[in-house]
Amino acid sequence: MIPVTKPYLPPLKKLNAQIRKIYNSEHLTNKGPMLKELEQRLTEYLGVRNLILVNNGSLALQVAYKALDLKGEVITTPFSFVATTSTQVWEGLTPVFADINSNSLNMDPDNIEPLITEKTSAIVPVHVYGNPCEVEQIQKIADKYNLKVIYDAAHAFGVKYKGQSVLNFGDISTLSFHATKLFHTIEGGAVVTEDDELARKIRLLINFGISGPEKVESVGTNAKMNEFQAAMGLCVLDDMNVILKKRKYLHDTYVKKLKGSLKMPQWNSQGSANYGYFPVLFESEEKLLAAQQRLNENEIYPRRYFYPSLNSLGYLESSIKTPVSEDICRRVLCLPVYVSLSKKDVNGIVEIILS
Ligand SMILES: *Cc1c(COP(=O)(O)O)cnc(C)c1O
Repeated sequence: MIPVTKPYLPPLKKLNAQIRKIYNSEHLTNKGPMLKELEQRLTEYLGVRNLILVNNGSLALQVAYKALDLKGEVITTPFSFVATTSTQVWEGLTPVFADINSNSLNMDPDNIEPLITEKTSAIVPVHVYGNPCEVEQIQKIADKYNLKVIYDAAHAFGVKYKGQSVLNFGDISTLSFHATKLFHTIEGGAVVTEDDELARKIRLLINFGISGPEKVESVGTNAKMNEFQAAMGLCVLDDMNVILKKRKYLHDTYVKKLKGSLKMPQWNSQGSANYGYFPVLFESEEKLLAAQQRLNENEIYPRRYFYPSLNSLGYLESSIKTPVSEDICRRVLCLPVYVSLSKKDVNGIVEIILS
């Protein structure tokens, strides 16, 4: 059986050695040595100023909204994983959907301004599939209207824009380190910001607002990453070169064989890629469903990332139509990519699709 993705498992011996260290330290969570090492290594690896590890990518978003005191409406994309929207609603914010560009599949900056009202407090775009957004144009609009920008960068681990980390744009970027993501800590995530004051505030927010043994400085929650998560992260980080090399190879194999037959998202010309996903666009939902059925008959399970378009979520009151996103959601399918997938598997998948 071939699923859309499989978590990367580092050598068990290596993970065991890290877990033994946790046993020796008897430090299981709360700013432990593994967490500190992983924060430092990720800060360097990604080329960012402040990176705060948290226990999942959804809490990373929630903490980011809280840290920037967001209120009222946020302008966001309808083409993403449901967590982008659900975290906003959970925090009492109203998502207002700016439709996407049909080539990049990211929020189209030209659609933002008409949606800005007195109630708008932020723009929350997503670098979908790791494809960098139009970060400069988005920042210009944010500056003009004094809005915060939070990038849901759950897919953008290691991605660069104009030679520097794409995580350095906006007020805050958030990452997810869920097992299915490119880099993972089983469950996990991070909040990234260039602003040192904001970073300090975030560190309080994720630890009940506690700033000293007998001091509670603010309201807070518990969003801490534990030492076992960090141990997994350290092992996976060691193997990033191997992970990226294999994913690029699979990606290139797919592209070579499918180019001309199926459309793929247009990558930002100033952005690097991390090969986290391999989305293809069918001409119609009918063709997508036919291909999906044939693949399933062969025990191959691609996923409809993303479906449905988030503006159509049943719990939303909003009636905004985003026709481009709705159309893309019906026609986009993510094909399997993971380190243990073979070239032979990819060839088999391609053959079925083309037939
Ligand atoms: C995975 C994901 C999240 C949520 O991250 P979790 O770690 O699973 O909570 C948020 N946004 C996007 C775009 C994602 O893909």
